Amino acid sequence: VMETSPLELPADRVQRTAAELNCHPADEKVALRLDEEDGLRHFREYFYIPKMKDLPPIDLSFVNKDDDAIYFLGHSLGLQPKMVKTYLEEELDKWAKMGAYGHDVGKRPWIVGDESIVGLMKDLVGASEKEIALMNALTVNLHLLLLSFFKPTPKRYKILLEAKAFPSDHYAMESQLQLHGLDVEKSMRMIKPREGEEILRMEDILEVIEKEGDSIAVILFSGLQFYTGQLFNIPAITKAGQAKGCFVGFDLAHAVGNVELHLHDWGVDFACWCSYKYLNSGAGGLGGAFVHEKHAYTVKPAILHVFKLQ
Ligand SMILES: *Cc1c(COP(=O)(O)O)cnc(C)c1O
Repeated sequence: VMETSPLELPADRVQRTAAELNCHPADEKVALRLDEEDGLRHFREYFYIPKMKDLPPIDLSFVNKDDDAIYFLGHSLGLQPKMVKTYLEEELDKWAKMGAYGHDVGKRPWIVGDESIVGLMKDLVGASEKEIALMNALTVNLHLLLLSFFKPTPKRYKILLEAKAFPSDHYAMESQLQLHGLDVEKSMRMIKPREGEEILRMEDILEVIEKEGDSIAVILFSGLQFYTGQLFNIPAITKAGQAKGCFVGFDLAHAVGNVELHLHDWGVDFACWCSYKYLNSGAGGLGGAFVHEKHAYTVKPAILHVFKLQ
């Protein structure tokens, strides 16, 4: 958790609650107390929660088939909000009744369909409306952003990333290197955790940036690591990379809707994310892309035209 957060760390909260209840942190009483005190608990009502009996067969001997499942898969696909059906029906109805006229009329004219949600999205990522575009899927956006920001030269040609980046991110970066005719072995600089450790140490990340930054064109990290759950210090990585002349971007697939983000204030150069995980938009939901407004006139646009920066 970042130092910028004034909140109590989750682990400390569990310890404190266990001490108050005079029981082990793993005791059910702790979980029930935390549920009781959860200021967001009423949001549960806004979602459909699968029942155990409707899920693929598992050992049901110890669960009641009519129980709600305990859903830990929001990092893969968020639960369905109950309002989705209503919204979809409104649009299907409009399509049936008006055909192409639906592009321009109604609550959400399709031609500017993305714009009707930009206002909601900007606060989640900490950007202004003109810095974000909602379009495509994450990986397509990542490619488009790299086409804009990864402009290797003989001296500055590497992409710095985590060793266990999400597979499709890894492949996207590999293909961008190949597109520029670069040797992937030499140009893809991956940072691994230390022997016997699971997560990356900030000091190690900063050391690589300090030592090799002059040869790094783009640093691309996840905001929150999909595999380990590590929340990276986005402002610190951004600052260190930019001090060395690198562009610094983040894949926020597991961060958006999950942790606080201030992309504009942190000066992040670019970012992308998807909306079907913690934002519950459903499979195929629009991805997002961010380009900091400082690049309105500096980055040769592969995609700048979709932002309202110029
Ligand atoms: C989920 C996820 C993706 C998925 O990208 P799609 O283009 O939506 O398939 C990419 N990167 C990360 C880090 C993810 O967690």
